[in-house]
Parts: sequence; structure tokens; C-alpha cells
Amino acid sequence: KNNGSALDAVEKGVHVPEADPNNQSVGLGGFPDRDGIVTLDACIMDELGNCGSVAALQNIVHPISVARLVMEKTPHVMLVGEGALKFALEQGFKKENLLTPKSEKDWKEWLKKSEYNPQINSENKSFRPDKLPGNKLNHDTIGMLAMDAKGNLSGACTTSGMGFKMHGRVGDSPIIGAGLFVDNEVGAATSTGVGEEVIRNVGSFLVVELMRQGYSPEEACKAAVMRIIKKKPEIAKDIQVGFLAINKQGKYGAYAIQKGFSFAVCDKTDQKLLIKGKSYY
Ligand code: ASP
Repeated sequence: KNNGSALDAVEKGVHVPEADPNNQSVGLGGFPDRDGIVTLDACIMDELGNCGSVAALQNIVHPISVARLVMEKTPHVMLVGEGALKFALEQGFKKENLLTPKSEKDWKEWLKKSEYNPQINSENKSFRPDKLPGNKLNHDTIGMLAMDAKGNLSGACTTSGMGFKMHGRVGDSPIIGAGLFVDNEVGAATSTGVGEEVIRNVGSFLVVELMRQGYSPEEACKAAVMRIIKKKPEIAKDIQVGFLAINKQGKYGAYAIQKGFSFAVCDKTDQKLLIKGKSYY
């Protein structure tokens, strides 16, 4: 609305959940891994196809801004772990403790059984981090796509990843083409859910390529979900993957394996929260 860039919008937009200690799936207060360490994954992509990413980053509240600086200040796309932290500190970011008392308590609760069940998402019945004592919030990555007044597209994706994951595990969210993809000629897509299935199918890239072939955003998201289901029908009922997409005409759509996948849309006149995406089940 104020003629800003889509890139700034997605970076600032995802800062909100990253800084929210009550959101236990992104940034500060995110669920730790099974060793009790919060590690964050994020990536960002602009209308020129520039992109930046960080994975397994510790102690930084805004991994998306570190990802943006990887894009803008280095000749690289991705920095991980200690190298990403070193770069962030060099760029002036402050080291902070991301493990809130609430997430630490939930992790200790999880440790009692330590069931390693790498499934995800609040819609899934067998793994419900949102149902852990004291936590009423959904578990989810945030993926944000924006088109600015010039019609340029950008996207951002940021997460603390799968709750109580193995230390060092990285999902789809910081992987360009998997958790996020932007092609300014065609559209943009982002994903949430079991990152391993998204990576195996290069999900967000697939959604954008399907839109290039003429699929609407929702049809493209559905086709990508169906590909995941077709390859692994035996696990599909137990996992969640959802895609969200926008095309160059500003049309948007989403599709998920499980019910309950919702998203928000904001344009210069209106903000629609909790739009229910269609789903396979
Ligand atoms: N996609 C994220 C991951 O696999 C998690 C999520 O969306 O909840 O790390």
C-alpha cells in the first residue's frame, strides 16, 4: 500500500512470529531439538531470483534477517550452524537465549517418554505438540508470500522445525525450491508440514512450475500434494504437508493433505485471517 518492496514486507512480516515467545514453532520460544537446543531454519527469495538461507542457526531471534544478509552480503546462498552464527554476529546480531521456560518445560515433559516420532503439525493426531501441557498454540512454520505495487514477488519461510528433532536435522523450510520458491514471471509458493516429504518432491518449485504450465495456485498446490500422497500412500494419512501459492495475477490458493490448514490474506483493502485451505482428507 505504501509502495514498499515485497522483499521488505516478507522480512518484516515474519519478524512478528519470530519474536513472539508464545509461538512455539518459529524463532524465540520455538521447540528445541531432542537435546534441548533451539535451532532455526529460514530462507528468503526476491523477484530477481536472489536468495539466502540459514539452517541450524542458534541464539538469533531473527534468522530471516540473517538469511537476507547471506543473500545480500555474501556470494553464497546458504550458511549453516556455527558458520551461520559467526556470520550473524559479525553482522551485528545479538546472541540471545531462545529457549523459553515454557518450551523447556514441554521438552522435559517430552523427555519422559522420548518417543521419536518424526511427524508434525497440529492437524496430525499422533503428534500434537500443541496439546502438550501449557501449550495451546498450533505448531507450524510460517511461510509468507508478497506482491508489491510494482507487481514484484518475494517470499520468506522461517521455522524452529520439527519439535524435538534430532540435533542437526534440517527440514524443507530453509531449502530453496522445497520450503520456498519465487519466480517473478510466474508466481511464488511456500510449504509447511513434514519437511522430508517436501524436500523429496522439491515441493515449492513443483508448485511454481505447475503454475507456469497453466495450473491455478490451488490446482498447483493440490497436484504437489497428490504427488506426495501417490509416492507414499501408506504414510499419507499420518502426515501433514500444505502448500500456499500466489501467481503473477495476484490469485492465491492452498492445499494440504490434512484438514485444518488455514492461511491469511492481506491486500490493500482487506485482511482475511484463517481462510480454510482445501485438503485431501
Ligand atoms: N516444515 C517444517 C520442517 O519440516 C516444519 C513445519 O512446517 O511445521 O522443519
